[in-house]
Amino acid sequence: MSRRRVAAGNWKMNKTAGETRTLIRDLGNKLKGIEHGCEVLVCPPFVALETAVDAAKGTVIEVGAQNASWQKSGALTGEVSPEMLEYLGVTHVILGHSERRSIFGETDETVNARLRHVLSGSLVPIVCVGEGLADRESDRTGDVVRGQLRGSLAEVPADQADRLILAYEPVWAIGTGRTASPEMAAEVHALIRGEIAAIFGDSVAEGMRVLYGGSVKPENAAELLNEDEIDGVLVGGASLDASSFAAIIAAVG
Ligand code: PEP
Repeated sequence: MSRRRVAAGNWKMNKTAGETRTLIRDLGNKLKGIEHGCEVLVCPPFVALETAVDAAKGTVIEVGAQNASWQKSGALTGEVSPEMLEYLGVTHVILGHSERRSIFGETDETVNARLRHVLSGSLVPIVCVGEGLADRESDRTGDVVRGQLRGSLAEVPADQADRLILAYEPVWAIGTGRTASPEMAAEVHALIRGEIAAIFGDSVAEGMRVLYGGSVKPENAAELLNEDEIDGVLVGGASLDASSFAAIIAAVG
């Protein structure tokens, strides 16, 4: 089965609405000169999403959010619901990013609650998993990643799981300039696909896109994407510059 590759940019807490318009315009212009068949997604901060959707009109660029609530509305100060994002024309949402987990106390349980509510609507969730440095050094990568998958994807029905995208992001590689080697990443991607097969069955696992994230740059994207198991990339820092993200998109293909 061929899986359409994805190049997704996680802008984190960067770019005002005005800067968002400029960056999307510049990226859209660069993409006109690049042959690619992959999905291209940018995920700006909440307050820039409306501008982003508008700026992306007439381009191939889709717009995602960086989180979404487990509820449609209510007394949840600081949260934004999937319904609010859908209303703006947002199509994707990142869930369980390691910064949400490590800085803001997100757990597999909260990620799971968010995911199940997102799946009741139309957004495409990108669920992040990945081990910390201590986990890797003590040979616990497999256990940690499998545990995050079991917890984050609990009680998701198989007929909704086929909409999901997963991102393997080793925490020690995010924003550090250290990247997993292609072989290292491919090994964990294969483990993830095996776990997805165990939870949802072979056909869901075969179709699921598993992205790699962690200091992806124009210089290392091509060799990572040589691996069949890597279905695209989730890019932080290097997605904040139109030229470098366009070069990564070209490598994704
Ligand atoms: C990320 O934020 O998901 C990420 C992978 O960041 P960076 O590419 O900067 O390591």
